[in-house]
Amino acid sequence: MCRFLWILISAFTLVANPLLKFTTPIPWDQIQPEHIKPAIEQLIQEAEQRRVAYVADKSTPGWENAIAARERITKDLQQAWGLVGHLQSVNNTPALRAEFNAAQPLLTRFISTLGLDTAVYSRVKAYAATAEAKALTGDRKRYLGIVMDDYRRSGVALDEAKRTRLLQLRQQISQLSTRFAQNALDSTNAFELIITDESQLAGLPETARQAAALSARSKGKAGYRFVLQAPSIIPVLQYSQNAELREKLSRAAASIASAEPFNNRPIIEQIVELRRELASILGYKNFADYQSEQRMAQSGQGIKDFLSKLETQSRAAFEKESAALLEFRRALEGKDAPALRNWDTQFYTEKLRQKEFQFDQNELRPYLELNKVLTGMFGLVKQLYGIEVIELKTIPVWNPQVRAYRINDNSGKELATFYADFFPRESKRSGAWMNGFFVGSSEGGKGTPHIGTIVSNITPPNASGAALLSHSDVITVFHEFGHLLHLAFREGSLLALNRTNVPWDFIELPSQIMENFAWEKSVLNTFAAHHETGAPLPDALIEKMSRARTFMAGSAQMRQLSLGTMDIQLHTDFKLNSDYGSPVNYTRQIAQRFRSSPLEPEDCPICNFSHVFAGGYAAGYYSYKCAEVLDSDAFSKFKANGVMSRKTGEEFRKAVLAPGNAKPANILFRDFMGRDPDPLALLRRSGLAK
Ligand SMILES: [Zn+2]
Repeated sequence: MCRFLWILISAFTLVANPLLKFTTPIPWDQIQPEHIKPAIEQLIQEAEQRRVAYVADKSTPGWENAIAARERITKDLQQAWGLVGHLQSVNNTPALRAEFNAAQPLLTRFISTLGLDTAVYSRVKAYAATAEAKALTGDRKRYLGIVMDDYRRSGVALDEAKRTRLLQLRQQISQLSTRFAQNALDSTNAFELIITDESQLAGLPETARQAAALSARSKGKAGYRFVLQAPSIIPVLQYSQNAELREKLSRAAASIASAEPFNNRPIIEQIVELRRELASILGYKNFADYQSEQRMAQSGQGIKDFLSKLETQSRAAFEKESAALLEFRRALEGKDAPALRNWDTQFYTEKLRQKEFQFDQNELRPYLELNKVLTGMFGLVKQLYGIEVIELKTIPVWNPQVRAYRINDNSGKELATFYADFFPRESKRSGAWMNGFFVGSSEGGKGTPHIGTIVSNITPPNASGAALLSHSDVITVFHEFGHLLHLAFREGSLLALNRTNVPWDFIELPSQIMENFAWEKSVLNTFAAHHETGAPLPDALIEKMSRARTFMAGSAQMRQLSLGTMDIQLHTDFKLNSDYGSPVNYTRQIAQRFRSSPLEPEDCPICNFSHVFAGGYAAGYYSYKCAEVLDSDAFSKFKANGVMSRKTGEEFRKAVLAPGNAKPANILFRDFMGRDPDPLALLRRSGLAK
């Protein structure tokens, strides 16, 4: 090929690469796996050119040429990588995975090296020492403080040998995290259970049977197909009278990614060890201290104290509930009925709930069809914040199931565009989350809108196209939309002050406070109607649901505390090659303390713990509980002023959502409530304290 032609062709492929320049609407339909590596390579090259120009700039450092210019070095690269990382989570095809795995080390190396670049640091430091910097106020003052603090925490001031080692550690941890997530996904997908004999499905609700039949058909199989994704397994564990079926699914779920060929055990060992080393090089006692020094809890010990206090306060209720559950089984099946195993707990819990409250959670499903739920949720936020959510029918999406929306402020100004990807797919990781693709700016009059997504794995549509949700699915949708509003309402223009940098133990407040609304009768009445007849959700059902809300609250609390405790212990006390054994054995012992049924030999409570090993929650899982203290307390203000009060909504938006990370978390809370959090609010809501 002649050289000229070659240049032409490569110029063409570069122009055609949709990842090279961030455009809106995001061209999801054009991004192909083969775009990833070339785009990341070129964006790294461009970022490197900007870095070289930045350090070569010998003019007096000012805000624009020292701080704003530094942020611009990686902005395009980070934005492109945001899209790639997202596709890795929701469209994890073999081709995409291969390209992701090839590009990720290049990206991590560049970003980590830049964080430890002493020449860049010198210029920022020189600016921080100027009179101009010392006179900064408001957002800019806080931003510079955060940048300098990040530098201190990155290890830039350490000697070269240490910096080199930190670089290696950060790269290794990042690659191991990716492998952890990929193992979890592959192991989940490797399991299916086909039942052809319908008599084995006794007790299973009609909605779950239909879903299992649909799933089998989609694979060209006869009968009923069960998998480990939540909408498939949960109804079996709650309702199937077939203990053998429950056992098979329960055992498979409890041991996801715990054995070859998708074994996360060695990966966990390495990640925990590398994090320990990283913290120690940076001068911290343990990784939890490193992670939490800027959080509300402030130290690993602070987190341990918080969790262990809650454990003490919840233990009596948990033990009483566990004893009552066994007693209930024995009342049903005779005094010699065996103790409960993992696959029994949810089943008898459901049965007991039905007996005590005459309430079957499944009765709610026909009234909680997804479209109605969304209309209700968008109506709620219109009441609270005066915003309008409008579906966008024509913009590109990454999968035909995905929907897109725009949020307009009451003035008609566009605040954000967001995508919603609700249902499970084999190429999608489990759980639910919110992700920001683009942080807009509210400066300069019109400003640029934010772009984000909410992702979940809730009950998919049945054969007639209706997605009939469980109440906990509804809670999930409200939760993630709460995170999205935190992104959408952010005002200002400084990247480092956006929601992703809010202290981790505060970040679940905007999401968890939304969950409260899904329990309120006045809110449910606005949307919950039978999907076929249109009849409203009966008051009697709402009342039963509310009465049953705190049912087994001690056990639910212990489940969350167990996850938080395993996480924090691994990142404080645990040491490899000590009496503790492996991380899995160590955490199995912790987990047992929080359970009423024995762990099975193959159970691995952390092999699928992606929050901690492939997400941002390392030494941070407790933040859900911490934010529950805040949200149960903050919601009392909504309750006091009329749940859908516009005035309270506006106050919450202004004090908590719009500032992002512009003020410390405790100040944001105080701005809204006029006082510090009441530590007993959570226990009161769960019925565990008066
Ligand atoms: Zn959340």
